[in-house]
Amino acid sequence: MPAYLDYAATAPLRAAARQAWLAHAGAPANPASVHGAGRRASEALEQARDRIAELAGASAGEVMFTSGGTESDVIALRGLARRGRRVLVGATEHKAVLDTVKALPDVEVCVLRVEPDGRLHLPDLEANLGPDVAFAAVMAANNETGAVNDLDAIRRLCADAGVAWHCDAVQWPATRGEPIGADTAAYSAHKVGGPVGVGALVIRRGIELPVYSHGGGQEAGIRSGTVDVAGAAAFAAAWDEASRQRDAETARVGELRDRLQAGILAAVPDAVVNGQPHRLVSHLNVTLPGCAADSLLMLLDRAGVEVSAGSACSAGIPQPSHVLVAMGADAQRARQSLRFSLGWATTAADVGAALSAVIDAVVLLRGARTPAGAR
Ligand code: PLP
Repeated sequence: MPAYLDYAATAPLRAAARQAWLAHAGAPANPASVHGAGRRASEALEQARDRIAELAGASAGEVMFTSGGTESDVIALRGLARRGRRVLVGATEHKAVLDTVKALPDVEVCVLRVEPDGRLHLPDLEANLGPDVAFAAVMAANNETGAVNDLDAIRRLCADAGVAWHCDAVQWPATRGEPIGADTAAYSAHKVGGPVGVGALVIRRGIELPVYSHGGGQEAGIRSGTVDVAGAAAFAAAWDEASRQRDAETARVGELRDRLQAGILAAVPDAVVNGQPHRLVSHLNVTLPGCAADSLLMLLDRAGVEVSAGSACSAGIPQPSHVLVAMGADAQRARQSLRFSLGWATTAADVGAALSAVIDAVVLLRGARTPAGAR
C-alpha cells in the first residue's frame, strides 16, 4: 500500500460515510417526489442538512447542497458580485476563487497581499474596504500551506465596512471545529472523508443570491437539479465523524506532522517550512533547495509515497505555486516545494516511509550524501 499523504487534495472515504452512502444509493431517491420513496429521500436529505448546519454553526435554511467546493465558490462569488463595482480577493486563494473572480464581468478586482507566513495582510483588507466593494473573498485555511487566516479580524473588518465576506472553508472541517461566521462559506465533502462531487454553500440569513441554475427550483430556487441524497448523507456522516473524533484526531495527526517536519529538517537542514506558525495540524509545505518538485514527486511516487507540489489542481502545469510566490518566495524556491497533508487514516508507518523517501530523493537529486546519522 502506498503511503498516502495528500489529504488536502482528497481524503480517503471514512467508513461512516461509506455506510451512509450505501444506505441511500440505489434506492429511488428523488426528494421532490411525493410518494413514500421520495418522502424517505427528502427526510434523509433534510437530516443531512440539519447536521451540516449544526456543524457549520448555521441553521438548516442557510445550507445549500452543491457539487463541491468549486461550485459553492462560484455560486457565491457570481451572486455576490452584483453588490458593488469592486471585489477584493486574497492572493493565495484557491483557483476556484481567484479565477472565478478574475472572470467576473464589469468589476474591478483588487488582489490583497498576504504576509510571509501566508496569512492575509489585514491592513491591505482594511484599506481597500468601502461602500463600492461587492465582497471580500478570503479563505479560512490555505490548501497548499495550511496557513490559517485571522477569521475574527476578517469578519469584524468586513462587518464594520458593511461588505459581504465569502470564505472558502474547504480545508477547514477536517481538523477544525470553529464556525466560520462568514456571509457565505464554501465546503466540500471529499476533503473531510466524504465522497467527491458533493459540497455545501452556507448562505447567512439576509444574504440574497440570484438564481444560479434554472429548473426544478431545488435548493431554495438558487441551484436547480435533483440533489444527491446519498452524497449529502455521506457528507454529513463524514463531517460528523470528524467532529466527534476531532480532539483525538488532531492530536495524533499533529504529532505525526511534527515528526515528519522534524525528520526532514534534521536530514535536510537548509529545508524551509512554509506557512508557519498559524497552520492547520494536517499540512506541511516544505522547500527543499536544489530539488525540483516534479523530480521529487516522481521519486517519491516510485517509492510509494503520494504527495503533491502546490495544489493538486495546478499540478502538471509547469508554473510556480502562486501561493508561495505571494508569500514572497522566488519562482525557483516555489518550484522546489512539496506539500504533505495528513489526515484521519495516516499512520506512523506512512510518515516513516515518507521521511525515508524524501531523504533518498534529496540525496539523489543533490548528487551528494546527507550528513552521517541523518537517518
Ligand atoms: N477550495 C479549496 C481551498 C480547495 O482546496 C479545493 C480543492 O482542491 C477546492 C476549493 C475545490 O473543491 P472541490 O474539489 O470540491 O471542487
